[in-house]
Amino acid sequence: MSINELITKCINCDSKLQNFTKEWLLHCDNCGLDKSLLYDDKYNGQNPIRWTESASDFLEILRDHNANRVLTELSQHLILEDKHVLDIGCAAGWFLAVAKEHHMKATGLEPEKNIAAKGIENGHDIKTVTFPDKSITDIKFDVITFNDVFEHIKEPADMLDHVYKQLKADGYLVINLPTTNGFIYKLSNFVGRFGYSPPMERLWQKGYFSPHLYYYSNKNLSHLVEKHGFKLIVNDSLDVIRINGLWSRINHNKAMNPVISGVIYISILITYPLLKYVLPPDIMFHIYKKID
Ligand SMILES: [Zn+2]
Repeated sequence: MSINELITKCINCDSKLQNFTKEWLLHCDNCGLDKSLLYDDKYNGQNPIRWTESASDFLEILRDHNANRVLTELSQHLILEDKHVLDIGCAAGWFLAVAKEHHMKATGLEPEKNIAAKGIENGHDIKTVTFPDKSITDIKFDVITFNDVFEHIKEPADMLDHVYKQLKADGYLVINLPTTNGFIYKLSNFVGRFGYSPPMERLWQKGYFSPHLYYYSNKNLSHLVEKHGFKLIVNDSLDVIRINGLWSRINHNKAMNPVISGVIYISILITYPLLKYVLPPDIMFHIYKKID
């Protein structure tokens, strides 16, 4: 198979992917999977923007809230106390901190050394390596989590095979990530078709150090994961926006005119019930159980 055939073969259903609105974007007409070529500098640019840990501090309230939701849901299926969780792509360890509050033993992997350093300083068990790594070959985990990480992975099928091997029998896999089912994604695609692409580029994190390489739906993600020895047991969604901390999140962008910030803030307050309860959610959250 030629390289081009490999690039354009859907990892979920083997169909041929088609070009879609942008030269760096491919779409599967059969299962709806979207794939980007942004791992290539040719499309993503030579000097990507780095996402520093301080830049993401303002997301803390939302992240902690969502991490607690994930772990509370998991606790319906597994007693968390003393269980060992591996958080892949853990950044400075915010999920590890919440897992420890739930009395879990928590290990994280974060290859970006300057981001990992902050978590290590705070006493978290973080290894500055990518997954899989020989330093943890002998450890079997009860739970493996991908928090806003799975959409950045270039070879998800290989990754799932490694996760399977690294989990105990009856172990759990947790994945949360932005989805093609979401309202914001659909709206961005809609305006993208009319040639206005900044919202799509932002969603894919084009021009950033770690762009999104896939966008999944509920259905194609579970189909892909279940092919690798897992069973979907929880299919839910997480908040994209929390009213608590929203102002500081909007106001974080100092380049923005405060009047515009105010208008955005008030608009979100007004549409929030619609976003939260009526329109399809933008972050999906799955829990899988390892099966034989
Ligand atoms: Zn497909």
